[in-house]
This record gives sequence, C-alpha cells and structure tokens, in this order.
Amino acid sequence: MKSIVLFFSLLIFVSHSNAQNNVQEICGYKTELERVVKRQPNYLIYQNALFEQAMQEFNSLSTAKRRIEADTLYFEIPVVFHVLYNKTAENLNDTCIYSQLRELNNAFRKRNKDTSRIRAIFKPIAADVKIQFVLATTDPQGNATSGITRTYTNKTTFAANQFGTYTTNMKYSANGGKDAWDPTSYLNFWICNMEFPNYIGIVYGFATPPTNAPNWNGTGATKDTNSMESGVVLHYKIVGRSNPLAPVKYNEGKSAIHEVGHYLGLRHVWGDGNNTTGCTVDDGIFDTPNCKAQNATCMGQNSCTDASNDKPDQTENYMDYALDGCAGMYTQQQAFMMRFVLNKLRTGLPYRIIKYDTIAEPAAPVSGFKIYPNPLQEGNNFNVQISGQNNEYFATSIIDATGKEVYQRSLMANKVHSIETSGLAQAIYFIVVRNSEGKIVYREKLLIL
Ligand SMILES: [Zn+2]
Repeated sequence: MKSIVLFFSLLIFVSHSNAQNNVQEICGYKTELERVVKRQPNYLIYQNALFEQAMQEFNSLSTAKRRIEADTLYFEIPVVFHVLYNKTAENLNDTCIYSQLRELNNAFRKRNKDTSRIRAIFKPIAADVKIQFVLATTDPQGNATSGITRTYTNKTTFAANQFGTYTTNMKYSANGGKDAWDPTSYLNFWICNMEFPNYIGIVYGFATPPTNAPNWNGTGATKDTNSMESGVVLHYKIVGRSNPLAPVKYNEGKSAIHEVGHYLGLRHVWGDGNNTTGCTVDDGIFDTPNCKAQNATCMGQNSCTDASNDKPDQTENYMDYALDGCAGMYTQQQAFMMRFVLNKLRTGLPYRIIKYDTIAEPAAPVSGFKIYPNPLQEGNNFNVQISGQNNEYFATSIIDATGKEVYQRSLMANKVHSIETSGLAQAIYFIVVRNSEGKIVYREKLLIL
C-alpha cells in the first residue's frame, strides 16, 4: 500500500491466471493493459507517474479540501449505449439500460442503498465522487438522439474462444460492431454477447484505461492510435439491476461501475499482482488497504498485514471482484484520481458544473435536503425531505433549464413528500427550496431520464 509498484507481465494469460488464483477473470483489464503497452511500451511507467502526481496533489491539499464533499465542482459525462444483437434477447430494452445508468449515478453520487454494506472502518472514506452520467441528447452529426443505438450483427459472439479471450470487433461497424461516437466527447458503452459456446472463462466487461497524458509525448510515449476503441464493453446479461438474464451474483449492475472506474484511471484494489507477489504490489491509492489478490466474496479477510494502519481487505470497493452482493463504495482518493483523470486526460469529455458558489445565500448542509431517486425515469415520482423546525413550511419549485418554474408546492419540514413528475419531459431541472422569508435555502439538480 505504501509503495507504488505495479506488477504486470505480458506472459500472464487469462486462463493461466484462472488456474493460478482459482478466481474467474471477469474483467479484461489485464488484456486492455497489454494492448496499450504494445502501442506505448512505457505506458506502465507513465501510469505510475500519473498516480504519484495525483497523490502528491492530494496530499498537498488541506485536510478539509481533500474531502470531495467540500468540492463544488461536479462533472457530467454524456454517454451512449451501443446495443449489438444477433438474437432478440441481446437487444436489451430501454428500461434495462436506464436502470444501469441509474446504478452508475447512484454509485458515483453515493446515493446507493448498498452503502449499508460498508463496514464502520471504511464508512468515513466512502466518497461521493460527484461524477454523473447522462444519456447523450445529440449525436456526433448534431441530430437528436436517445443516447442508445441498436445494431443487428451477424456475430453470434464477440468472444474468441472458450477461455474468455475476446475480440474488439464490437467497436467497428465493418466487423459486425458499431463505430464509436467521438470518444473525446462521449463515453461509449458497447453492450454485446461475450459468451463463447460451452465457455470455461468469460469476461463480463472491459474498459480502455486513459492514455496520452500531456507530459508523455516527447518523453518516449507514442500517441495512442487506437482511441476509437476508447470506452466500456459490457456483456449483455450483466447490464442493469435485476436483469433477468444475469448469472447469480451479477444482477446489480456493478460490473459497469467497476469498468467505468478503469476507464477513469483506477486499477484493481489488489494492484494486479498474483498470490506470490500479492502483498508487494499496490493500486497506487493509499486509502484502499493492501490486499493480496482479488476477492470473490464478501469475507472481508485481511490478506496483507501492514506495518501501520493495518485494515482488512476492502471487499466493499467497486474495484475488487466481489462486486454484486458486496460492493458499495469508492474511496476518497479513488474519487480524487478519477476527477484528476477528467481534468488531465479525458478533458473534452465532461461538462463541468459549479454548484452553489454563484448563489449568494449560504450553502445548506448536504444532510438537510434529500431528493431521491435522482436521476429518475420519466413519469415516476421522486421523494423530497427537508430538514427544519417542526411545522415549518418551505416553498419548493422545479425550474427547467430555461429558468421557467414548471412546478410549485409547499412542503412541511421533516416529512417525506412524494412529488409527481408526470408531464415533465426528460431533461435536467433544478429543485429550489425557499424558506418563509423567500430565501433560497437548498438547491439541487434533478435529472429525468
Ligand atoms: Zn477490472
């Protein structure tokens, strides 16, 4: 945990790794690293340097500013889901995709109910990453879009063999896939079949790690020539919450959350070592406890003993393999790292939203105002709870992007109110809460999908 050393060998194949650790390699991170290293032989050195730079920046902040909660900057990333189907079942419906988007947003905004899984020792470092994902509303040609594309493919699978090796054909229209939308402006997801008939190993998802840090060129790294592959691939059966096709243990949509973590620069919490080198390699993040190898269950064992501040393996972390059934958090430093990547490497991708700092009224304590679920699906209700004196009333408005009030209601403090959104189109709104003197006391964004 203290040293930043990344174990990596081109000689490790997925099937070999399976035999060694007896854990199914459900994520293609090692394969994706191999691809990048082929193009940029010094990639791992640069990746380490990037982590060091990020952690130095983190450590230089005051204790208060290290908390993402104190940051007023939110990132909003437009996403497109490319659905590729050969059989009808692979053509996932919109509801399933919306539910995946909701799980992503719940995880990155720490609005997931799974936070109840987090043990007390880790609760203080569980982060609201303040990154949000929205379906793209405009395609690269400037046309309106739902943010979902659907393409019939003659490929019955995008796996290459029984052992979990896979192709990248899903990313190329000419190869039975779908060409990416400009990956500097959109986060591309491809949803497709990753099962090989009678498979022994299967990769449920993989993501391209960020490349091309500004300081890399001129110091030995070549420019990434494969950026049209940038994005996240998901096996269709593990997309969304309660996907009826999902294998046991993979029905919470956590694989997508894990892969977006890689896409935004994170490594696995065990640092991708193996059982021999396990405790000597690290993920470059100091608030994820050192662990020897991937955990497949929520045992919470302590596989590596550290000299100081020793803690058990953080199986609650999205970047372990336990995932569905166990995972419910990113740490403060993982959150910092992902935001660092958006600021340094994937710079064109997100919109940046500054909240509160343009409002004259003092920002309200975060705990005083709750709206959930958020984002929510069009036509559904959401709940509002406002802290205040008993019998105190607040004027609550929904404001659309043009500043027009589209809903107004008076709400009593300390009660949960269900608000109807029928009649409100899919868009971003603001919920504005005023006290009896007409002062804005709370303001929050509401996303209707
Ligand atoms: Zn992974």
